[in-house]
Amino acid sequence: MTEKTFSRTLPAGFGRAFVLTLREALEGAADDLGDLDRRAGDGDFGTNVRTAMKHLDANLEAEPPSSYREWLTALYMAWLGVGGTSGPLFGMFFRDLAKAGEESGAAGAEAPTISQFTDALAAGQATVQRYGEAKVGDKTMIDSLDPAVAALRAALEADAETSAVEALFAAEDAAVAGATATAQTTARRGRASYVGDASKGVIDPGSAAMAIVISSARAGADGSGVAHFGWIA
Ligand code: ADP
Ligand code: MG
Repeated sequence: MTEKTFSRTLPAGFGRAFVLTLREALEGAADDLGDLDRRAGDGDFGTNVRTAMKHLDANLEAEPPSSYREWLTALYMAWLGVGGTSGPLFGMFFRDLAKAGEESGAAGAEAPTISQFTDALAAGQATVQRYGEAKVGDKTMIDSLDPAVAALRAALEADAETSAVEALFAAEDAAVAGATATAQTTARRGRASYVGDASKGVIDPGSAAMAIVISSARAGADGSGVAHFGWIA
């Protein structure tokens, strides 16, 4: 194995670090995410996030995960049990992430490669768009996910020297930029679409949560374990 391909692997324990970082970050951001949904939706998103994390804790307790796939399975099952539009969408999204590297048999191992993880993010995006029918610009979680996937692909393709962590930093920047830009748009999906132009000026909470997901993946990969979400409030 060359040094280059090595730097493109995700660290052993990535699934655990990603999921636990995400849990902590979503708990920390739940109030702010709920406020955003109150200003530009029906106000249930903070509760939905908290419920998902409660389910996650129960799942982790009932059956401690021991592989990337098991950590992501605990996460997707947690979201599938939550209401709102976001529950099933995040549930199906994380189910696709759990399958990362499945074909090569890597999903049962410590971690997928960054290319497998990128392909899984793209598959998750396709699933969310197939069920939710949101396009880029509709003020949804797609507005941070789409640029994140594009940035990951671009970073990995542009330079063979780019490491997995560097590519994830690029994806994080793109996701946060995509989420903050939703403040300029009007919601066309979910219950936020009922409030029309009142959603203008407010960041879409689902896009912010998705940016936290990408930030948590970066933090799980670089070993810091700290996702950024201070930009939300
Ligand atoms: P609801 O809109 O039913 O109240 P939640 O409050 O649980 O759902 O989640 C709101 C978030 O879900 C939004 O901020 C948006 O990002 C995301 N969302 C809503 N509808 C869609 C959709 N059709 N496709 C993708 N994401 C969506
Ligand atoms: Mg809502």
